[in-house]
Amino acid sequence: MYFFLAIIFGIIPAFIARSKGRSFFAWYVYGVYLWLIAVIHSIVIKPYEEYLVASGKETKCPYCAEYVKFEAKLCKNCRKELPKLSRKQYEEQKALAAKVLKQKNEKANIIAFICLVVPIAIILISMMVMMLVARA
Ligand SMILES: [Zn+2]
Repeated sequence: MYFFLAIIFGIIPAFIARSKGRSFFAWYVYGVYLWLIAVIHSIVIKPYEEYLVASGKETKCPYCAEYVKFEAKLCKNCRKELPKLSRKQYEEQKALAAKVLKQKNEKANIIAFICLVVPIAIILISMMVMMLVARA
């Protein structure tokens, strides 16, 4: 019973985490296994900086490499004036951030895939073993 509910409610932490740039798939798997922990975790985590850049909300200060709001004129960290990006630079920055974000989430996807496949494989193998033992 718990498992069926988890399959449905697993989308809650997955959606929250996705809104912070995390992998929907990985957080769905996490939510199915450890629902309450995944929900709390998805609420407390900060959004990925790369996600904020990729969605045009933030930019990286070229002087101190800290992330600041895209509309900011001065860096909140080093107080230097931020250069105005050209359309091309802006698009390049977004594309680069999206690429880094994808790489970050790929790792989580691989771990989630293993967590999903290994228990299923164990169940299938043990069922096969039990059938063979029963036949013998
Ligand atoms: Zn700065």
